[in-house]
Amino acid sequence: MQRAEQILEDYYAANGSWSGVQGLVRSLPTFVSDRLVLADSSGTIVGDTNGQWLGNSVQSVGLSKPANIVVSGQDVGKLYLLSAGMVVVQFIPPVGAISGQTPSSPEQRFLNHVNTSLVIAGVVGAAVAIFLGLFLTRQFTKPIRALKKGAARIAGGDLAYRVEVNSRDEFGELANSFNSMAASLDSSEQSRRRLFADIAHELRTPLSVIGGTVDAMLDGVYKPSTDNLNSIKEETEVLTRLVAELRDLSLAESGHLKLEIEPTNLAELVQRRVSQAEVIARGKNITLNTNIADGLPEIEADGRRIEQVVANLLDNAFNHTPSGGTVTVAASADTDGVMVSVADTGEGIPAEHLPYIFERFYRVDDARSRKTGGAGLGLAIAKQMVELHGGKIWVESEVGKGSKFYFTLPEKRQKSVP
Ligand code: ADP
Repeated sequence: MQRAEQILEDYYAANGSWSGVQGLVRSLPTFVSDRLVLADSSGTIVGDTNGQWLGNSVQSVGLSKPANIVVSGQDVGKLYLLSAGMVVVQFIPPVGAISGQTPSSPEQRFLNHVNTSLVIAGVVGAAVAIFLGLFLTRQFTKPIRALKKGAARIAGGDLAYRVEVNSRDEFGELANSFNSMAASLDSSEQSRRRLFADIAHELRTPLSVIGGTVDAMLDGVYKPSTDNLNSIKEETEVLTRLVAELRDLSLAESGHLKLEIEPTNLAELVQRRVSQAEVIARGKNITLNTNIADGLPEIEADGRRIEQVVANLLDNAFNHTPSGGTVTVAASADTDGVMVSVADTGEGIPAEHLPYIFERFYRVDDARSRKTGGAGLGLAIAKQMVELHGGKIWVESEVGKGSKFYFTLPEKRQKSVP
């Protein structure tokens, strides 16, 4: 540095000005990557080993701590040494600070314009991002809100409410599952209500007969004769049977019916039941035939419950077959067990009723069936019993020709089919 100052002082002393000094400055000895900058007495840079700042003022490039160049006792310039690695932070000077630039110079206007545009773009970008974020969040949570509302409505008892989600993604599937669940709850609730109404309806008739007969006896209108007492007895028997059937059905439907499964000879079981029914058949002038195949396999079953099914099918056959008709009970081997059928030559069941006759409280002819004492539970119970054994029950019928009920039972008991 000392040497450089000396050389520059000599240069000024010889020339009386700094003009043409840049060539000298470039050749001044410096360490590797050091940089020398020379400014005249007014602060304008006249020499720069890099040549980059020539013509700029030292303030505008942020230089400080110079070494003074003194010639004949006068400050004629300043020399700045920038060491390797030194960072000079160059601030954008305030408007007009750059020498030769006025507030309205095109460059300054351009810079101002760029700055303003950057600020506006930043603000607009942030606003768009916030808006998009809120919009997308609302879109994503829309199906969840719909499901939440649906759950609240269902919990509040509005079982007919369904959620509307049209997307085909997981939310759509969730909404479909939710709606299926609501539909099944709705149908359970309706069938529960129907069941209560049916039970109340079935209880009303015998109870009103009993109540009316007893009232009439108390008022002296009826005598407590054997006939009148018998009619009360019959109605209590109807009630007792109804209660027993309801109990069986509810136990079977809830899966709480305990089956006493043991090896059962079905041929013997059917024969025993048919023998008991022969008295009824004779009384009604109905021919009772049996057709039991030899060598039927022994099956795993609750004999008492299967006898109940056969008895029920036989009762129905007798109740719906006129005098002179025929009832035929058959048993044969089936693919994986046995098949039993009870056929009659009775009135038959109209096709439109066939899909429903295994439903509880379903009667084809309400008035007529009531006379025979049935509440419409017999076939529903038979279906439950057969299915609990892993079998199937069905009917074929033709009006005017007769009906044929079938049921199958597997040799080895399987889990019940729901
Ligand atoms: P119920 O106790 O009234 O007999 P079921 O459940 O046993 O009830 O039968 C349901 C209905 O199916 C009966 O009310 C009757 O209308 C019809 N049904 C059942 N078996 C026969 C049959 N063998 N022939 C004609 N109709 C029948």
